[in-house]
Amino acid sequence: MGTDLEKVLLSKEEIDAKLAELAAEIDRDYQGKDLLIVGVLKGAVMVMADLARALSTPVTMDWMAVSSYGAGTKSSGVVRILKDLDTDIAGRDVLIVEDIIDSGLTLSWLLSNLSSRGPASLQVCTLLRKPEAAKVAIDVKYVGYDIPNEFVVGYGLDYAEKYRNLPFVGTLAPHVYGG
Ligand code: 5GP
Ligand code: MG
Ligand code: MG
Repeated sequence: MGTDLEKVLLSKEEIDAKLAELAAEIDRDYQGKDLLIVGVLKGAVMVMADLARALSTPVTMDWMAVSSYGAGTKSSGVVRILKDLDTDIAGRDVLIVEDIIDSGLTLSWLLSNLSSRGPASLQVCTLLRKPEAAKVAIDVKYVGYDIPNEFVVGYGLDYAEKYRNLPFVGTLAPHVYGG
């Protein structure tokens, strides 16, 4: 597996440090609130687990799984819910936790879907954001790292379902794509 990787973009230490910063902001912003954090499966599993443990604010956790229709690796913006929330979010303070925002299409669909359920507040936290996402008019309150427009794996992110368990974020060597 080591030879599949081209380089480490973010080490475990860099990820941990950033999540600690984000957790401190979230603690400050949600003081005294009853916060529900929503992880988007499967990519956000690691971010959820580590962010939740870095928070002092007591939270409840729920999960959604969505799939984006469309050919190839580009997201189409047409989204299907594979697993919905177990929680009724009407009147709740909700924070969506994401691994990465690329085109922003999945997230913008998710935001309008969850907004329609009448939460008291709805914000987004993402560990990673790519430049394309900046072009979409979505307000992401908590952003870990803005990264270059490269395909990354690790720390929850996959290539053909592999590499999710890497403790860091890296890029793949060209031979992995080439077969
Ligand atoms: P968007 O709708 O923002 O284009 O798509 C976001 C989703 O695409 C992410 O949740 C993730 O599953 C996938 N994605 C986008 N960029 C990358 C990347 O660099 N690496 C991996 N592994 N997945 C990505
Ligand atoms: Mg995601
Ligand atoms: Mg994937």
